Amino acid sequence: MNQNPKYKEYDACIVGAGIAGIFLAWLLGSQGKKILILEKNAKVNMNGADILKPSGINVLEKHGMLQELMNKECRVRNHLSVFHDGIQVDHINYKAENERGYFMVCPYSVLLETIYDKIQAIETVELLVNQSVSKINEVENGVYVTLNSEEEIFSNILIGADGTKSIVREYAGIKAHFDYYDHVMYFNKYPITSSVEELNRLYVDKNGGLAYFYPINNTEARCILGFNMEEGKNLKESGNKETLIKRLKTFVTQSDDMLNQINSLDNFLTFPLCRMHSEQYFKGRILLLGNAAHSIHPITGQGMNLAIEDTGELFIWLSKYFNSEISLEEALADYQEQRFELNSKVLAYGHRLAGSFGSAEDFMNSLNSKIQTSSRDLSILNKI
Ligand SMILES: Cc1cc2nc3c(=O)[nH]c(=O)nc-3n(C[C@H](O)[C@H](O)[C@H](O)COP(=O)(O)OP(=O)(O)OC[C@H]3O[C@@H](n4cnc5c(N)ncnc54)[C@H](O)[C@@H]3O)c2cc1C
Repeated sequence: MNQNPKYKEYDACIVGAGIAGIFLAWLLGSQGKKILILEKNAKVNMNGADILKPSGINVLEKHGMLQELMNKECRVRNHLSVFHDGIQVDHINYKAENERGYFMVCPYSVLLETIYDKIQAIETVELLVNQSVSKINEVENGVYVTLNSEEEIFSNILIGADGTKSIVREYAGIKAHFDYYDHVMYFNKYPITSSVEELNRLYVDKNGGLAYFYPINNTEARCILGFNMEEGKNLKESGNKETLIKRLKTFVTQSDDMLNQINSLDNFLTFPLCRMHSEQYFKGRILLLGNAAHSIHPITGQGMNLAIEDTGELFIWLSKYFNSEISLEEALADYQEQRFELNSKVLAYGHRLAGSFGSAEDFMNSLNSKIQTSSRDLSILNKI
């Protein structure tokens, strides 16, 4: 217990209001736990991932969110065609590869807003924006956390859901291993076209080119482009539409209606791409989940799904701890045991796939339709 009554007391202080942070806040808040979420930005970010795979859908369904999302703008899809150097090398049919038989495309804003609205209805969950952590002092029964505003609070546990560059991970002294890719990806959206309506198409080429087009709702299509770092920089700086489209046409063979909408890379968002894995997911009363614990190449479309799965698992063990069924150490060790190896294997899959564009044979050997459709079967993952 907090020995000093001048501090506000919480069951959990969660740093980061991304999908992992707010989903966990909702789950714990629904059990009456007192939760403080700290978000460094002025508001919750509503731009991000939009592919929900079966592994993530399973968790959302378990917590009663699937039908709600289906009733909103989210769409069910079954197929993905994959091309290397312009030639179709695979056609992944979710009906054949995964029990659920489908994945969903759902604007990140819809997913986040759905959970955010739930949080606002829970009195025990407090969200502070423009706030972060400036100091942490872990004691036997909890963690004293100093906020940027200099206010200090006391929390039973401190949770880092603050993304790849996690400050909580740093404060806890948990090491993480980073592999940065010499590859840059550009994200934008355009009005939906008939080729996108028909099928999700993923193109890569031997020179590091990547293009992925899919619907995010009934009117808009996601456009993701990728190049080796140097080429991407040159294409962006030149601003020359003809050069960009000519390059894309060397490997994008069935999506002219999308290419016709692209003028330059100017309005595209970019993010640094890396594989990252923390050496451990907890230390004492401080723990990590989602991108604070691991980061995967987006070609797998699994980062957000892993974050959702981590959250679902962590919730199981924290509930047992808060119900006094097990100790905190047992709860966190069980969470780590359930997630670490599995995440590590999915990360290894993404890393191998991201490094395989150079030859069609290597790419086809690396692309595993079971894992791509988010199988978490260790007998399949162990083969990577
Ligand atoms: C463009 C793009 C497309 C993607 N597409 C897909 C996809 O289709 N499917 C998929 O599964 N995955 C996808 N991913 C990956 C996915 O977005 C992430 O894995 C997922 O969002 C991780 O969620 P998170 O909550 O763990 O972390 P984040 O989404 O990174 O959220 C972290 C939050 O913490 C806040 N924060 C950071 N530092 C601090 C601090 N010091 N103090 C307070 N707050 C802080 C941030 O502002 C942010 O709100 C994509 C990633 C990118 C970049």
